[in-house]
Amino acid sequence: MAARIDIPLSDVQKALGGSLILDHPPRCSRCGTQPAAYYETHKLRLRIGANKPGLYRQTYRVSRVYYLRLRVCETCYQADFAICPEEFQKDETALGRLARTHSRLFTIGTLIACTGLLLMTNLVPANPELIQIKSIWPYITGFGGAVIIGTWLHQRTRQRRILESLESKWINPALHPRAEARTIVLENEDDATAVVLQIKLYNEDWAAECAAQYNWATVKLGEES
Ligand SMILES: [Zn+2]
Repeated sequence: MAARIDIPLSDVQKALGGSLILDHPPRCSRCGTQPAAYYETHKLRLRIGANKPGLYRQTYRVSRVYYLRLRVCETCYQADFAICPEEFQKDETALGRLARTHSRLFTIGTLIACTGLLLMTNLVPANPELIQIKSIWPYITGFGGAVIIGTWLHQRTRQRRILESLESKWINPALHPRAEARTIVLENEDDATAVVLQIKLYNEDWAAECAAQYNWATVKLGEES
């Protein structure tokens, strides 16, 4: 059975620019295992006051980033790397450092490839000083592409190895899915008790103990909710 924790505006406002950390009770919020010294991360935004629809996308009067972090065990933490490595970039763990390295290499590869493509165009004049470097644009673009593909292959290999190691221990990550976070857009900040974040957890006991600790409301959800 799943449960939902409703979190009011005042608690999310305290976490803006930082993290909203749910670390009680000290068990895994997914499988209930102890110890649980890791955190699953969700990058979220507090959104208040929807502006009139813009040309490209919906904008808000207030739109500020914060991170939701929920206590998990090492196994559930590792399982996430195979699904959402981008959520690891803030973590001071081995997998967090690896995620940051991958992210930087993707950026560097893209910049190199774009530089090569730029040299191909007339935006870079074909004067005597530049003609030589302009002529090697396919190699520069190819090198940038190779960095991107190499990084992607390395990431895939690490993800596959983690999944294989979990499978060898008869652990099925799908049995203990990540929490689901839903942001509710308010019209204004007048009511500090208004709910702005709903977190669906599949570990009902953990959700109830956590909500009691922080004085938040919980709602029991049926299988289909
Ligand atoms: Zn766990």
